[in-house]
Amino acid sequence: MQRRTFLKQTTALTALSTVQINAQTVDFPIVLSTWKNEKANDAAWESLKKTGRALDAVEAGARIPEADPNDTSVGYGGFPDRDGIVTLDACIMDEKGNAGSVTFLQNIMHPISVARAVMEKTPHVMLSGEGALQFALSQGFKKENLLTEKAKKAWEEWKKTSKYEPKINIERHDTIGLLALGNKGEISGACTTSGLAFKMHGRVGDSPVIGAAVFCDDEVGGACATGLGEFVLKTLGSFLIVELMRNGKNPQQACEEAIMRIVKRYNYKEFQIGYLALNKKGEYGAYSIQSGFSYTLTEKGVTKVFEAKSYMK
Ligand code: ASP
Repeated sequence: MQRRTFLKQTTALTALSTVQINAQTVDFPIVLSTWKNEKANDAAWESLKKTGRALDAVEAGARIPEADPNDTSVGYGGFPDRDGIVTLDACIMDEKGNAGSVTFLQNIMHPISVARAVMEKTPHVMLSGEGALQFALSQGFKKENLLTEKAKKAWEEWKKTSKYEPKINIERHDTIGLLALGNKGEISGACTTSGLAFKMHGRVGDSPVIGAAVFCDDEVGGACATGLGEFVLKTLGSFLIVELMRNGKNPQQACEEAIMRIVKRYNYKEFQIGYLALNKKGEYGAYSIQSGFSYTLTEKGVTKVFEAKSYMK
């Protein structure tokens, strides 16, 4: 079946669809996110019910942990850097290959929505720091204090025990990355984070970098990442996974190969990376270096958390 015909046939669908393409069963919509993020997936699913668009879904999902003061890895309540300042990275990519991102953004609750505004309202892909903040304010976002008492206390405790030295720390960190197939089977992805806890001031990780933390190509599917961003950056993990799927690997095989690229070259025992991939057939995969990486899947309106397979047992 020609893709155009497929799109035409599915345009009218607003709810769950199962379609035959080239004799393969395609289930969508579908939402996949890193870690235990049921509320984010449920918000993404609600959004799909309203607009049907994967892009709206991944944005709606990302906004949940961004506003959650108890999520210490993302947005409001996120742990600060070594200087006690919360700095945020986020990116978003749609099915047409459009992308937007913000890095080193401060005092804005929803960096994912600023990233989307960068994508839709500017000729650029990335805005950083003060410039990103100015742009956000010009778009009506409000300046807010994102450092909660809980995060401030954790930082104060960390200062007592840690040496203030300029190296990457590897404290556990649970960034949210999301992938979705919308009601037309189109792919979008998003990622948002406060970055590594107690990182050096100015450090930017993989999360705002298209091709590293998120990549989508509507001919193939998408991928997203979590973990120590430096290694996702050095291997351009999400782009790699999408290219591996383009060349015939299924999502699980592609995630495993991307992890193996890291394992072969780096001292992988000291850090965690987790990848998720979703192809246009609605098949998905998840793989990490260390055990303990979980992911959240919503299919047919049901949200469940699963443990990913890992290289280290
Ligand atoms: N990837 C994020 C970063 O390096 C952190 C994480 O996934 O927990 O900033």
